[in-house]
Parts: sequence; structure tokens; C-alpha cells
Amino acid sequence: MNEGLDAYRALEAKQQPQWPDLAAVQKVSEELSSQPPLVFAGEADQLRARLAAAARGEAFLLQGGDCAETFEAATADKIRDRVKTLLQMAVVLTYGASMPVIKVGRMAGQFAKPRSSDTETRDGVTLPAYRGDLVNGYDFTPESRAVDPNRLTRGYHVSASTLNLIRAFTQGGFADLRQVHEWNKGFVRTPANQRYESLAAEIDRALKFMEACGVDHTALTQTEFYVSHEALLLDYERPLVRIDSRTGLPYGTSGHMLWIGERTRDLDGAHVELLSRLRNPIGVKLGPTASVDDALRLIEKLDPEREPGRLTFITRMGAGKIRDVLPGLLEGVRDSGAQPLWITDPMHGNGITTETGYKTRRFDDVMDELRGFFEAHREVGTFPGGIHVELTGDDVTECLGGSENIDEATLATRYESLCDPRLNHRQSLELAFQVAEELKK
Ligand code: PEP
Ligand code: MN
Repeated sequence: MNEGLDAYRALEAKQQPQWPDLAAVQKVSEELSSQPPLVFAGEADQLRARLAAAARGEAFLLQGGDCAETFEAATADKIRDRVKTLLQMAVVLTYGASMPVIKVGRMAGQFAKPRSSDTETRDGVTLPAYRGDLVNGYDFTPESRAVDPNRLTRGYHVSASTLNLIRAFTQGGFADLRQVHEWNKGFVRTPANQRYESLAAEIDRALKFMEACGVDHTALTQTEFYVSHEALLLDYERPLVRIDSRTGLPYGTSGHMLWIGERTRDLDGAHVELLSRLRNPIGVKLGPTASVDDALRLIEKLDPEREPGRLTFITRMGAGKIRDVLPGLLEGVRDSGAQPLWITDPMHGNGITTETGYKTRRFDDVMDELRGFFEAHREVGTFPGGIHVELTGDDVTECLGGSENIDEATLATRYESLCDPRLNHRQSLELAFQVAEELKK
């Protein structure tokens, strides 16, 4: 059965780098194949079980992190602040949903990017496009943009150290619910965020109640945290496939959950083929042109057994389209009897470029798509099972709006993303409070 793991090699693989030296890629591939797995099969199974609960309407998924992680930014402080932001959001969402929130970072492997063009031209100079730190460097010089397979091994090691820190933070006391809530209290104390004070006060009372009841110490101080990324680069993903010694089945061990992007989800393409063979929970992005037929065929290929938690559809329609296109898609899939987990990515359908050349997104458009997502699910009677957002724990200025009112002139002050614009720490919390209000409805 495992011979099938290489069937993808005969198919078209979009968005792959043109490696100049295939022998070097082969060597790196052998090296990666001999490394320990980054995540374990049992953990991926546990996440699948958690996602199954979300698909049934009994849990909510929070998935978030950078558009593109970088090797340079994999520092303790930045990783801590991203984890902290996700934990803070999760507390608010848990309260709003009255359900467990499954925390999944776009972290420890989100190093490869699909691009609309193979090349980039600046001031008359054309170089290969930046495809993420797993492939080449961002600096606009021929040396940096040259693709280098040794980056695949570096990416593995950076992912390992990132994951190590995440495990330490989430198991070692940093995730203490009371501490996380204290951070949130700091956030709502600022005048711009006072509208969230009453929700924070309700959470305060709920926590005191739990403590008074003597809720188990572990439940308050530790949390499950999973990692995920777009499984884009097949020369990274394939060598990290391992056969689980318990079951003899293949798992992608580069991350707990792997997703297929909007540009590589062709049914007869290499990405869908390879991921169809793995036992991990799999996500697929669906943009506004996705038809019911596309969704049903993806279900048939990726989840033929209709296994709960196996497949997550991550819709990214755009605020202007979601109310028109999502209900039909939900209905078509519902009527087929399938029950995938549906979550929304309110970021990728809402990109704009300012006159000054910044790629950005409006906080209000992001919120509008989120509301459209909840409306569509309410209309069809399906469960709005989670959110997928690009965010950072830093005070960057990449998305417009939010209670700090970031305007076009402010974008330049701290725009750090090498790819898509991320919500900053405060915008992320604001989003969580607003989604919690939506969930309480
Ligand atoms: C992304 O998640 O960064 C991305 C490229 O998204 P999509 O596949 O939805 O375009
Ligand atoms: Mn992105």
C-alpha cells in the first residue's frame, strides 16, 4: 500500500521551485528521511478526534499564525508572543462558544509560499520570486533569490526548535488560564477596547467560579496546541512521511494538520494525490470559484471513508462574495451526506494594494467576511466550526483599521511581513472578542 506514496511523482506538481541540481535535492531528501519525526502519529490522531468534535458542532477551531514564517524570526520572543496571542484569543472564544477551542498554529513549518509569478521585477531587474525560506531568500539579489535545497534541512531544524518551544510554553505553565485572562484584562483596560470590558468581566466571574469549584489543576495550567502549515513543497513533505509503527499507516510528520492551498488543489494534481495517502487531518482552501462538484470530488478523493475530523474545508471567499457563494456550497455538501469541518479564512479573499504599494487588508472587511460566514451557516443549518487567520503577536502595522485605527500612512511605520499582511496582537484580540459576541448569539 505504501508504494502509492510515490504515485504523486507522475502527476503535475504546481508551485514547485526549479531546483538546479537534482542530485543535491536527492541528498537533502535522504537526510530528511533519516531525521526523527517532528510530530507523532498519535498526536495527529488526537487532533483528528478533536476536529471530529468540531465537525459535529461540539468544538471550535482556532488556526492562526504568520503568512510566511521566516528562519530569522524564529526567536523565543516572537514565538512566545504568537503563542500568547493565540492563547488569549482562545480563552475569549471558549467563553463565547461555550465549547472547547482547538488551538492550531500556522507554525513550525509555514515556510513555503505559492506565488502568482515565477519571477519578480524591480527597477528593470528580474529575479526569481521569493517562495518562502524553505526555498530561497527574500533579499532582492541574485545570490539570495537563488533556490537552495539545503534550506529544506534548515527548515526542518527551525521547525524542530519552534515546536520544542511551543511544547514547553503550552505544557510548562505559561498557558495558565488565569494568567492568560490577566493579559486579556490588560487589553480591555485601554480606552479603545472598553466595549469588550463586560465580556472580560463575565469571563472573570466564570474563572473564579471554576476555581471555587476546585477544577483540576492540569485543566487550568496546560493546554493542547497543534501545528499546521500548507503542504506545498513536496520535496520537504515526502521525506518527512513516516510509517506509524502501531498501525503501519503513513503520516506526514512535518506538522499535525496539513492543508492544500487554493492554487494547488487540482484533483489530478500531485498535492491532492500525496495528501490523500496520509492519515493526518487534511485541510483544503476553497476560494469563490469552487463549485459543489469540486468540493464533492475532493471529499471523495481525500476522505472516501467520510471519517469524522479527517477533512476541513477552509473557505476564503472575500467579504463581497461570501453571502452569495457559501450557502450553495454548504447546501450541496450537506445534501451529499458528508460532514466536513467548515472553517473560514477571512484574510485571503480580502487583499488590497494601497496607492503607495502596500499589500494590506481592512479589519472591517475581515470582520464582514466572518459575519457572512456565520450568516451562511445559520441559513443552511450547518456548523461554523472555526477560523483561520494570519496574525502575529507583534505590534506591526500591516492591516488597516481596528481600534488603533491604523491608516494608510501608518502602514509604513512597521510593515514586516514578507508575504501577506497579518493582524497585529491587538487586532487579533479584537477579532476574537467580536467573534465571541457572534458565537454567543
Ligand atoms: C495562505 O494561506 O497563505 C495562502 C496562500 O492561501 P490560499 O491558498 O487560500 O491562497
Ligand atoms: Mn497568506
